[in-house]
Amino acid sequence: MLSNKTSSAVRSAINAIQHYKVLNILTHDCFETALETEQKISTEKKNDSPLHGRPILIKDNFCLRDTLTTCASKMLANFRPPYTSTIVQRLIDHGCIIVGKTNMDEFAMGTASWGAFGPVANPWSLTKTMATNEETSKTVLHIAGGSSGGSAAAVGANFVSIAVGSDTGGSIRNPAARCGCYGFKPSYGLLSRHGLVTLVNSFDAPGFFARNIDDLIYATNAVAGSDGADATLSSKPFQALKTSSESSKEKKRIVIGLPDDYDIRALSTEYRSCWQDLVHQLTETGEFLFRRVQIPHKPYANAAYTILSSSEIASNMARYDGIRYGHHTKNIDESKDTYETILKKTRDESFGERVRGRILAGNYYLLEENYEKYFVQSQRVRRAIANDYRKLFEEDKIDCLLTPVVSDDPITLAEYEQSNEIFSDNDGFTVDANLAGLPALSFPVRISSKGFPIGLQIIGPFMQDQALLSIAQRICSTYHFPFLDLSTQV
Ligand code: GLN
Repeated sequence: MLSNKTSSAVRSAINAIQHYKVLNILTHDCFETALETEQKISTEKKNDSPLHGRPILIKDNFCLRDTLTTCASKMLANFRPPYTSTIVQRLIDHGCIIVGKTNMDEFAMGTASWGAFGPVANPWSLTKTMATNEETSKTVLHIAGGSSGGSAAAVGANFVSIAVGSDTGGSIRNPAARCGCYGFKPSYGLLSRHGLVTLVNSFDAPGFFARNIDDLIYATNAVAGSDGADATLSSKPFQALKTSSESSKEKKRIVIGLPDDYDIRALSTEYRSCWQDLVHQLTETGEFLFRRVQIPHKPYANAAYTILSSSEIASNMARYDGIRYGHHTKNIDESKDTYETILKKTRDESFGERVRGRILAGNYYLLEENYEKYFVQSQRVRRAIANDYRKLFEEDKIDCLLTPVVSDDPITLAEYEQSNEIFSDNDGFTVDANLAGLPALSFPVRISSKGFPIGLQIIGPFMQDQALLSIAQRICSTYHFPFLDLSTQV
């Protein structure tokens, strides 16, 4: 039985998640085990990890042994992996307590966290309404961003202080901006992908949500370093990242690039002002210098992302045949169904529209007659974009770039339901960091006139994660962001 006393951190997190069920944050809860674990570790000798005893949430595409890992897909609705991902295991080893698996877009494709188990709602919507039934909810609740929306919403609402996400084209930074918290996508290869269900092997990066930068650092330090299980992990020994109090107080002036290519027409006046105002504010401190910069190959970035990600997706999704694991159709006609028809039924029944759309697109790009003109050409664009950024950092001595993350306030769930986009225009703000493997952080800046958080993003040089986070500390210490805290109202 679950005890109802609220003295424990885990109990408070559970109460808040249960009270705000309308946000649909979890695909699966681990409440019982979490309470037991908390009890157990409270009697053990406390280790000195700053993460010890903290309730956390894990996006539902990270494997947790014997626990449902669904990727918010019917295809994996009953999948319990026989092993735990490196990231999750190391967090557990540091004393983190896993309270649940968070809701997301199916297989992490999308920007609304709306998979087979319904949408995650943005916690900031609840500052304006108290949704009652499901139908009214859709018109008054807003999207939480995605694909790691459940993790972002839980941290944005202060149900937990840290949550795990994955970022293939923006899936940590986008929902972090929408839910008003920090979202950190480390350099590609800094953290192990072992046990993270693959979306796009060459883009996927595990990362974190938190309400301050030090927590991002604690979590990253806890999980980084070789595990012998991910060949794309950097072979350089990991240097622990320093928190704000540990890093040197030397205040070198920071040179920040403002890429004209991110100032797109779709960017709302209010979101553009937020970007410009922060530049003015930071300039006035005398510690930051801004330069306008160009990314010559930016116009091709979205196309390259679309083609490369769809191609890798088509190949990765082939493993879901319903035979080795996952959903298997019950609708079989023994007399005439072949392997092919059974496979088709299984996949038709269990993949959503977006997943099917991308598999179809990916297979098209990979056709023999298209391979060179789509896939290979996109690889060239990818290299050219990586070079554009490398030049800015190495030759023009730019320390980081400051850009928007999304173009406007979130739309309602009802509005999102009407659209049937396979890719989002907002991906344009985030995909470059994945194409080039760069570290990037989305941070909350202020509240829009309609009462939603507005975030901005900084992007830094490859494997300069420490420098990027130190710059973020300096930027964010110049203003006060009014974080949301729904947990106190439970
Ligand atoms: N929105 C992007 C997409 O749908 C990013 C996904 C991700 O980062 N997992 O491809």
